[in-house]
Amino acid sequence: MHQYDVIIVGGGGAGLLLARELGNKKHKVLVIDKNTNLLDFSFYTLASFINLEKFNLTKNVVSENINKIWLHSKNFKTKIKCELYTLDKKAVHKELLEAINTDFVDFKLGIQIKEIVEENKLFTTVKDKNNNSYSAKIFVDATGTAGVLSKQLGLRDKQNKLATGVEYNAKYLGKPDQIYLLLGKTYKGGYGWIFPLKNNRAIIGFGTTDNTLKKGLKRRLDEIVELPEIKKLIQLDSKKVEGGSIPITPVIEKFVLKNLVCVGDSVSQVNPIVGEGYKFIFESAVIASRAIDSALIENDISLLNNYEKTWKNRFLSNYKRSKIRQEQIEKFSKSDLMIDFGMLLSKLRSNKKNLESLSGEYEN
Ligand SMILES: Cc1cc2nc3c(=O)[nH]c(=O)nc-3n(C[C@H](O)[C@H](O)[C@H](O)COP(=O)(O)OP(=O)(O)OC[C@H]3O[C@@H](n4cnc5c(N)ncnc54)[C@H](O)[C@@H]3O)c2cc1C
Repeated sequence: MHQYDVIIVGGGGAGLLLARELGNKKHKVLVIDKNTNLLDFSFYTLASFINLEKFNLTKNVVSENINKIWLHSKNFKTKIKCELYTLDKKAVHKELLEAINTDFVDFKLGIQIKEIVEENKLFTTVKDKNNNSYSAKIFVDATGTAGVLSKQLGLRDKQNKLATGVEYNAKYLGKPDQIYLLLGKTYKGGYGWIFPLKNNRAIIGFGTTDNTLKKGLKRRLDEIVELPEIKKLIQLDSKKVEGGSIPITPVIEKFVLKNLVCVGDSVSQVNPIVGEGYKFIFESAVIASRAIDSALIENDISLLNNYEKTWKNRFLSNYKRSKIRQEQIEKFSKSDLMIDFGMLLSKLRSNKKNLESLSGEYEN
């Protein structure tokens, strides 16, 4: 007899949204996380094209409503009109936590899971690093970049390429409804971003997929902050540097193995094009929750595969297009000339087409 219907390993965005959905459907769930505080993060950047209502989130999680994206290369700027948000990451996770039905969902924090154990062709337990076991009917890997179970079972390569970013929370002198994306060698050959927050604050960050640049990330961010056009927007009043990584993989389509389901960055569901994760991992978690619900009600593990099928119909071709764009941008970023050229091309394209590329949502 299993104590839990579902064990979710990882209480980040994907794990919490899934726990909320399954708790609402009255399934007995355990969320395990290695952190003792689920509202303590290593970075806070969060801009998103998300439809908050769709995920039952309120406007209280919004830092700023954004209606312009400025793309900067060395010699050109392109403006893209849009509707998106910068979000208060802590407020998003707090709302999710508060909406979780604790009659059905338990938490065990400060526990690091190291592996999943199979007996008689099904997964039966996950084990922590002290060899304690936790059993359930269905398991979920929502451990983000760590991908503890997805890597163990070969759903994600053990040696994935990561995009790594560092950021400062700084004083912001620009307009609150505009965000900036900085591309090309002038911006240190990776990509920079400025995302406004409430109260004349903003996050300025720099990220790269290029291993040769990763060592000096903070120094590169410091150099960007000193550029004259950036000094007009940003004043550093704290040198506290934060950061994190996202997986850069080929597009992954396999998320389910027997009674294990993977969501979020554990299977690289962050959109390749601009590293927007939340909207995509939330939608995947909702799709996964429906498949888990029917598998539990019908007592039929094969119904978990509906998660993969629905995901593919909704996302696969968009992810493939975004992946191609991401590889182009990565290549172009090494040269100011190429990025200037890309920027000129984007000036000739319609706002709609540019927005499709950035959001990773193509109409056809
Ligand atoms: C620098 C940077 C900037 C970003 N900017 C944006 C942005 O502007 N907009 C956007 O939408 N997305 C952004 N993203 C991407 C987004 O943050 C991720 O896609 C998202 O956090 C993934 O959520 P997740 O729940 O899959 O993983 P995570 O948020 O990483 O959560 C994983 C959880 O699993 C736990 N865990 C890990 N290993 C174990 C273990 N062995 N045992 C138990 N628990 C474990 C961790 O403690 C954590 O709580 C950015 C990412 C980075 C790094």
